[in-house]
Amino acid sequence: MSVVRSLVARWILNSRGHPTVEVDLTTDDGVFRAAVPSGASKGTREALELLDGGDAFYGRGVSRAVANINGIIAPAVVGQDCADQATFDRFLVGLDGTDNKSALGANAVLAVSLAAARAGAAARGIPLHEHLHRGPHRLPVPFMNVINGGAHAGNDLDIQEYMIAPTGFDTFHEALRAGVEVYHELRHILSERYGRSATNVGDEGGFAPPLSAPDEPLEIILESVEEWDYGGRIGLAVDAAASGFADGDGYLLDGRRLSGGELVDLYVELADRFPLVAIEDPFAEDDWASFREITGRLGRRLRIIGDDIFVSDPAIVRRGIEEEAANTVLLKVNQIGTVSEAIETVDVAFGAGLDIMVSHRSGETCDDFIADLAVAIGCGMIKAGAPCRSERTAKYNRLLRIAETTGLPYGLRERDA
Ligand code: PGA
Ligand code: ZN
Repeated sequence: MSVVRSLVARWILNSRGHPTVEVDLTTDDGVFRAAVPSGASKGTREALELLDGGDAFYGRGVSRAVANINGIIAPAVVGQDCADQATFDRFLVGLDGTDNKSALGANAVLAVSLAAARAGAAARGIPLHEHLHRGPHRLPVPFMNVINGGAHAGNDLDIQEYMIAPTGFDTFHEALRAGVEVYHELRHILSERYGRSATNVGDEGGFAPPLSAPDEPLEIILESVEEWDYGGRIGLAVDAAASGFADGDGYLLDGRRLSGGELVDLYVELADRFPLVAIEDPFAEDDWASFREITGRLGRRLRIIGDDIFVSDPAIVRRGIEEEAANTVLLKVNQIGTVSEAIETVDVAFGAGLDIMVSHRSGETCDDFIADLAVAIGCGMIKAGAPCRSERTAKYNRLLRIAETTGLPYGLRERDA
């Protein structure tokens, strides 16, 4: 049993300086805190982040979401058992009563769901990653976003994220160390070549250099990898977040207009030139035809990850499976709004042989829930930004501690293909 004794919500600030929701949920085992993240390049079908609008905070206040917790959710859940996450989340979903959590706000519902999971773990006297356990545990490869563009930076890069993925290491500690070394090497190279202002960082802690060609960051990152002799052990990945540069029925990339098919060719060329292990959101969220095409052409060689197209929604992931639109699902708990629904998405994806990558948002707090989630589901992949800025390193630091106490295996899951 884990009976909710009190539930209090408040606003705090996220990493971009916008308000977000934090809750303290109290049971007989203690006070359990959780805070919710916020995206900048959101999928249109995400659960609704309830913002106040109006003038205060440029419309980004969360006082309505906070009031919904303190005035509606708290009176309803105080006295209830939150030990069984599925039952508790079903109650929250029912209380909201809408398809996209627009009545109470997904930011309100998620904060309570996350805190309840922590309370449930404490009631059982086990760590969160044990409590949420699904299938074999494993420490995930950290996909570190070392160059920022798109909606996350003030430069001219259309592709939003350039990541390094230290897949070829035996432990999480060694992998993180290698990523950090490459990150700092990259800083030196950018500084020498473009001046110190090129080492200013974007929203996810990656550098935001004055580049615009889509392949240039890959070249420089690869140089940094090779400088440390990590060739073959660190793969590269991109999140194009292509809804951000969609233009009518095509795309506008680095000043060039491309059809979906031409953009597929460009990715194939990049995959031939660079050790790419994953491409996320290569196309806009409605461009299912191009998703199918690239998955057909590259899906056996690397991960084609759906973020905005799937929005962590089990129903949309089912369509993605039928249409073979991707081979990997990006999992962001705030896109769907409860822990249990996120886990349903995991079960749907794994059940069909797809992979999962757990993800932060560009607007984050130091809440490290997703580190435990990634270990719990054993998906082998997490992206939490650069190894820089506390809201990013909070997740990697939590994984260091889990590695230290569990000695779990590290790395990608085995794939059939
Ligand atoms: P967001 O972007 O958190 O700003 O929506 C992250 C992503 O696209 O993966
Ligand atoms: Zn994305």
